[in-house]
Amino acid sequence: MIEDKNKPKTSLADLGEFGLIEHLTKNFKIKQESTLKGIGDDAAVLDFKDKKAIISTDLLIEGIHFDLSYMPLKHLGYKAVMVNLSDIYAMNATATQVTISIAVSNRFPLEAIEELYEGIYAAAKTYNVDVIGGDTTSSTKGLLISVTAIGQANEEDIVYRNGAKANDLLVVTGDIGAAYLGFQVLEREKQVFQADPNNQPDLDMYTYLIERQLKPEARRDVSGLLKELEVKPTSMIDISDGLSSEIIHLCKQSEVGCNLYEDKIPLDQQVISTCEEFNMDSTTIALSGGEDYELLFTVSQEDFPKIKANPNFTVIGHMTDASEGMNLITRSNEKIALKAQGWNSLESEE
Ligand code: ADP
Ligand code: MG
Repeated sequence: MIEDKNKPKTSLADLGEFGLIEHLTKNFKIKQESTLKGIGDDAAVLDFKDKKAIISTDLLIEGIHFDLSYMPLKHLGYKAVMVNLSDIYAMNATATQVTISIAVSNRFPLEAIEELYEGIYAAAKTYNVDVIGGDTTSSTKGLLISVTAIGQANEEDIVYRNGAKANDLLVVTGDIGAAYLGFQVLEREKQVFQADPNNQPDLDMYTYLIERQLKPEARRDVSGLLKELEVKPTSMIDISDGLSSEIIHLCKQSEVGCNLYEDKIPLDQQVISTCEEFNMDSTTIALSGGEDYELLFTVSQEDFPKIKANPNFTVIGHMTDASEGMNLITRSNEKIALKAQGWNSLESEE
């Protein structure tokens, strides 16, 4: 945490729980028609009329999911919301509300929590979701933040993980692997800084990677893009773990196999150059890295003409009969079984 040592800090104990809640939440405005009651009562009240409600929740713990030595609190607040909205978008739904629960130790002054809430506020504003409640409590050590995201969708538009069929195309949005490399770059800089605090890092070469790690954006646009193209995915998931483990989820739940083509995986130029620098294999990073918050989905072959020219989408493989297994087809045309935790390039089927 980079702190301005000259600025006086306000102790959370001085405000008390209710003072803190009031202070943090006073700027939130209700924009969604479906929010009948937001913050301020025992519970929020929502009305989705003829739509279905979609709910997802995540818990982030300091030292496990984030490291405040390089994660600014504002970014953490933003990311905590993104992680959850991504799950709503992965159901092909619209995100409408979030609740925010925090547990804070007395190590954090009010100004730190204000920063966290600046990020939450920015995310809620940009993604047009109402903050409708939460909980505030103390922790003996560190910061915990839990976000619940709520969304809505027409029943017929909802896309589950289990609808993929053999021969469906496997499609990914954006590019993969950058967030994990951003994490690697930040970890390396942290170590360099700890060894010599005067060492000013030059991170110009890694801007995209660091942004993908510290300020990810959820794919709010995809549901609308697909609707415009008149494509309904047969299955969908967001890529919070690596590509490999998400593909395995789709395959297992849909009871199909798949062939993923190594040469089709979309990689940013910074991912390619940084992998070379770090002596890492870009395919391994894409398969096992995670935190990209892109969407992975399957569409029927008939829909290929509708998506093929769209720069948001890359066809990376196709589903097969379950008996064929889940495979990576390498650049040298070798077939390797996909593994949830990375993949062992020595273990070839042939
Ligand atoms: P209760 O005692 O019923 O749990 P609280 O006093 O904790 O109520 O909360 C008062 C209101 O403020 C509720 O609407 C609650 O959802 C909201 N709230 C509490 N903490 C937070 C937070 N960290 N962020 C957003 N809203 C919060
Ligand atoms: Mg409470």
